[in-house]
Amino acid sequence: MLKCEICGSTAIQDETISEVFHVNGQYKLIENILASICTQCNQRTISRETAEHIRKLMNTQQGMDETAYLLQQPANAQRLMKSMANLRAGCNIEQRELLPDD
Ligand SMILES: [Zn+2]
Repeated sequence: MLKCEICGSTAIQDETISEVFHVNGQYKLIENILASICTQCNQRTISRETAEHIRKLMNTQQGMDETAYLLQQPANAQRLMKSMANLRAGCNIEQRELLPDD
């Protein structure tokens, strides 16, 4: 049984997500990543195989060209920015939780 490494919950769901990765000064949107998501704390975990797949995508020139192409499409660029905003929101939540009450 999968267990969340952050909160220890076993309420993990498999979901297909799109995630933006920042590499070599460029943003790359990787779509259709199979991730395990903790329903308690939203921690997203990807398998070693998926991580390897993403690494390969990021290391190919084709992947970078694809990102440039995606950014040229207004709808895709908007989605990319939204995804990035979500990531930032996630970071903010974590930071808030670390702050004292007052
Ligand atoms: Zn969790």
